[in-house]
Amino acid sequence: MNLIEAQQIIAEVVTGRRRVASKEVDSAYDILKQNSGYKAALSELLEAASEDCSCQDFQGRIAEFRELSPAEREDELPEMAAHAEFCLPCRRALWEKEQKIWKTLATAARTHCRVLTEPLRLVLQRGERIEERGTGFPSVEPFLALGAQMTLGPSDDLAPPLRHRRKEWFLKDDDADCGVRLLVELTGTGQTTLRCSLEGETGKVPQLDQVRIEIRRARSNSLFLAGPLSNFQADPIVLTPEAWLIKLIPSNALDILPWEIPLELENSEDWTDD
Ligand SMILES: [Zn+2]
Repeated sequence: MNLIEAQQIIAEVVTGRRRVASKEVDSAYDILKQNSGYKAALSELLEAASEDCSCQDFQGRIAEFRELSPAEREDELPEMAAHAEFCLPCRRALWEKEQKIWKTLATAARTHCRVLTEPLRLVLQRGERIEERGTGFPSVEPFLALGAQMTLGPSDDLAPPLRHRRKEWFLKDDDADCGVRLLVELTGTGQTTLRCSLEGETGKVPQLDQVRIEIRRARSNSLFLAGPLSNFQADPIVLTPEAWLIKLIPSNALDILPWEIPLELENSEDWTDD
C-alpha cells in the first residue's frame, strides 16, 4: 500500500463511502503517520469530507432528489445517493411522504401485481451483521417492531446487538388495507433467515393459509420454494446471499393483488473465511 492508497482508504472511512476492513484501516493509518506529509494529507481529507453531503444539505434538496429514479440519483446527485444509503434518518425522511412503496405492474394478460418501487438490499458483513444498502424503503428499529417476539431465541451475551443482526420492514399497501411484514435475520450459525406475515388494522387482512408464498431466484426466475404462507411461520426460510423475488399471492376469492418483493442479499467484499 502506498501513500495515495492509504489516503484513499482513510478518505473512504471518513466519508463513509465504503466499509473498510479494520486491518486495512490500521495499515493505512500507519503509512500516513510515518509520512512527513501526513498532516497536509489529513487536512486535505478533512476538507474533502466537509464537501461531502451533510444531513442538512440532504434535507434541503430532498424534494429534488425524490423526483429522480434510482439510476438518475446515482448519475445526477451521487453525493446525496451515497448519503441516503448510509444515513437512516435521511432515508426515512426521503420515504416519509409522497414516496410510494408499491407500484402496480401488468404481469400477463389481465393480471396485475404490486411490486416494490425499489428493491430491498442487504449486505452481510462477515456473517456477523446485516447492513442496508441503496435507497430502498428503510427498515424499522427492531425494538419498535411488533413482530419482534416472533424470533426471540436463547440469549447470547457475545452476540452483536439485535439491530445489527436483524432487519425488519412493514411494507404497507394502502390499496389492500394491509401490508407485508418482512424480517431478515442472521442466526448464530451465520445463516440468513426470512420470515413473512401480513398485518393490518382492518378485518381485510388475508388469513395466512389463504396466501401462497413463492420465492424465486431473481437471475434465473427458477422456483426455490412455494406453498401456503401458513406453512412457513414456525420455521423461518433459509436464504443464500443472492438476488431473490418474494411473491405473496392471495387466493383469487380475496380480490387482492399479489405482492412482489425484490430482496437482494450479498456478502461484503472483504468477507473471508478466517
Ligand atoms: Zn443524514
